[in-house]
Amino acid sequence: MAIEVYNIMEDLVDQNMKKIVEQIPNVCYCEQCIADITAMALNNLKPRYVSSAKGGVLARVMGTTEVEQINLIREITSAAEKVAARPHHSLDVKVKNNRHITITREEVKE
Ligand SMILES: [Zn+2]
Repeated sequence: MAIEVYNIMEDLVDQNMKKIVEQIPNVCYCEQCIADITAMALNNLKPRYVSSAKGGVLARVMGTTEVEQINLIREITSAAEKVAARPHHSLDVKVKNNRHITITREEVKE
């Protein structure tokens, strides 16, 4: 297995995205909006790089500090509020796509 330099914040943002955006009114769950929220949150979070084979990444994710988790939630919330207010597409697209949640593989429906 290849050793990679890896930003574990990417995993953490993905893992926490759903439960956070569900609490924000008017947020759109389409691929574009979720990608925008992810990018915005990651840009505002300090990256946390690890060198690891992929199998070791999850174990390291568990070692994040409380401050990192608070920052993570704050930045995802802030990004989601901004994207909800100004999505990259018109609002009728949002309504249509809101039936679909494309955040995680197991959440893809229809
Ligand atoms: Zn959208």
